[in-house]
Formats: sequence, structure tokens, C-alpha cells
Amino acid sequence: MKQGIHPEYKEIKVACSCGNAFVTSSTLGRDLQLEVCSKCHPFYTGKQKIVDTAGRVDRFRQKYARKGAGEQPQDQQEQAG
Ligand SMILES: [Zn+2]
Repeated sequence: MKQGIHPEYKEIKVACSCGNAFVTSSTLGRDLQLEVCSKCHPFYTGKQKIVDTAGRVDRFRQKYARKGAGEQPQDQQEQAG
């Protein structure tokens, strides 16, 4: 391997928001903070988990639950985002 042109590949600590932490190898050079990992990702857990920090999914559900019930939407000023 040619010297001096490769980034340093070494062990870093990875911490997830679920509390899981592990060590991996990376050229990143610093520790990493994740939102999902293999311990809490729905693909591995089989559970539904929505990462909804801004409450957008809840707003969407409320909006269309109201429509689905046959009521007319009253608040036209509600903007997405
Ligand atoms: Zn996790």
C-alpha cells in the first residue's frame, strides 16, 4: 500500500439514540452518534418505529382522519412544513 495517500483507518465508538453502543473501524477519525442501529431498526426488530421529531406524521394523520370521518376541513390555513 502506498504511504501517505490513505486516510487513517482506525477504531471509533458508535453510539445510538436507543442506547446501544459498539466499536467499529472507520476512516472518519471521530466517534459517531446514530439515530438508528441494527439493534433498534424496524428491519431487525420487526416492530414499527417512526422517527418523527417534528410531529409531521401526527399532523398528517389528524388531517386525514378528519377527512375520512366525512367532515369538511375547517382550517385551510394549516400549512405543511
Ligand atoms: Zn439503536
